[in-house]
Amino acid sequence: MKALTFRGKEIIRHETVADPGIEHPNDVIVKIDLAAICGSDLHPYHEREKGLDHGTVMGHEFTGKIIEVGQEAKRLRKGTRVLSPFTSNCGTCFFCRRGLTSRCENGQLFGWVQGGKGLHGSQAEYVRVPLAESTLLPVPETIHPEEALLLGDVFSTGYFCADRADVEPGAKVAVIGCGPVGLMAIIGARELGATAIYAIDAIPERLRLAEQFGATAVNYKEQDTVALLRENTEGRGADAVLEAVGSPAAGRLAFELIREGGTISTAGVHTEAQLAFSPVEAYDKNMTYRIGRCPARTYMEQLLPLVAARKYDLRSIISHHLPLSEGAEAYRIFDHKQDGCTKVVLKP
Ligand code: NAD
Ligand code: ZN
Ligand code: ZN
Repeated sequence: MKALTFRGKEIIRHETVADPGIEHPNDVIVKIDLAAICGSDLHPYHEREKGLDHGTVMGHEFTGKIIEVGQEAKRLRKGTRVLSPFTSNCGTCFFCRRGLTSRCENGQLFGWVQGGKGLHGSQAEYVRVPLAESTLLPVPETIHPEEALLLGDVFSTGYFCADRADVEPGAKVAVIGCGPVGLMAIIGARELGATAIYAIDAIPERLRLAEQFGATAVNYKEQDTVALLRENTEGRGADAVLEAVGSPAAGRLAFELIREGGTISTAGVHTEAQLAFSPVEAYDKNMTYRIGRCPARTYMEQLLPLVAARKYDLRSIISHHLPLSEGAEAYRIFDHKQDGCTKVVLKP
């Protein structure tokens, strides 16, 4: 099959690799209908996140149809359209039973192979899905394939970020980063009752999307973000900060923006060695800090009805549709945020 593989720093190749096959009776093979590039793919792409084997098939966002079913995956059928979280999960371990499927004892991240071990990704014609019965969900007729694709990662992750920020009705919230995850976090904050949402970025088209989702756009390169938040909160700062970037600067801004007693919820993947604030700084704010990988399997099931209700135009964040064969270029465009690029969908 054809796939996008990692071949070193900023090198993605569209090449022929071995077709995936059933390796365990609980596996299924999915024929990819749509895949996407996530902000998380950019960390190994730039080798900020290290260890990925050369030749690994990239990607962890996809939707498609089951074409082959292992003997033990009895509840799944050939031809079923499915969506998937970005990790596989067993559904029965200590963590899965508590809904923390992203820390499943038996789970794997799609698109991560290190030292020959791991799971190839979904920016390909086919993908092998382990623990398939507890990982995949059938896509209801009412859900568009692009919505299913977004539900498997960025919509679930954005919502999760908001959900962990202790957002109370009437809260004034700051969202740092208006990439796909930050934009979806705005929706989460709204659903949880925030009445003022300040969405922070410097890219005009992303800020425009943030406004379309109901936020007040703040260009951090043109405005004094900390002063603006204080002016609007009687000098206190934000009740909750949703950080969807993953950089030292964004981490520090989150700290500067949060009020005493507030909560910072971080979805951004940080590759630096230290937090952006010291223990005593955190102490002096009585603040709460939450961070981690989204248990997307748990969230995507909960959020299906909200997506089906079409209250928000999730698909509006997709700026580019490209064939898989142009994947290397797609990474460059998404990375440089060229041509108004917010989210790329790839079609094999
Ligand atoms: P993205 O790269 O498209 O978006 C990041 C945005 O942040 C960009 O629009 C950029 O302009 C903006 N930005 C950069 N520095 C900033 C600053 N100092 N202040 C404000 N904005 C700034 O990525 P994405 O797909 O939206 O993902 C965002 C982050 O979430 C990434 O770190 C990604 O790895 C992570 N992520 C985490 C999970 C999880 O489970 N926790 C899941 C998916 C993605
Ligand atoms: Zn992702
Ligand atoms: Zn598990």
